[in-house]
Amino acid sequence: MPAALARTRAGAESAIFPPVLSRVLRQRFGRGAIAIEARWRLRFAMHIGPDGWSVPERHEEYQDVLQLLLDHADARVEGSAAVARWIAFSCMGEDHLWEDLGLPERPALGALIADCFPALHALNVGNMRWKRFFYKQLCARAGLSLCRSPSCADCSEYRVCFEAPPPL
Ligand code: SF4
Repeated sequence: MPAALARTRAGAESAIFPPVLSRVLRQRFGRGAIAIEARWRLRFAMHIGPDGWSVPERHEEYQDVLQLLLDHADARVEGSAAVARWIAFSCMGEDHLWEDLGLPERPALGALIADCFPALHALNVGNMRWKRFFYKQLCARAGLSLCRSPSCADCSEYRVCFEAPPPL
């Protein structure tokens, strides 16, 4: 294979939305995958370089979130590394992560994480919102806590971190 073509293919595979990711989404969502990609591109197209790849400087946590996901990726699942890049990149969005990814509903994100990163999914026993959960994991890795309360149930940010109301 000519070197230039090999470079192009390697670039395509490491892009934020590579062909393998399209394939994964088609397998999971059928024709709905087209709408997912379209919604995602609408939100993030301005951040994608001509090579299909670039992470804005303001997304400082990209490498950390990516590493967290890759550390828990199930290598037997096709496209898990591509899903990790896509999710890590999309964490810079302003809305709920499932919305920024263009997914139809939050449970679809949970199911995707369960399949691609099962050990990480199992850690989210409280069903914390996923982006919050990732950042809480990063804090734990760094030995930090940005939490405002020692207990989630008593915390003023509970509704920011969790979808369900606090336990009674
Ligand atoms: S609810 Fe409060 S204590 Fe619990 S993870 Fe969120 S910020 Fe931290």
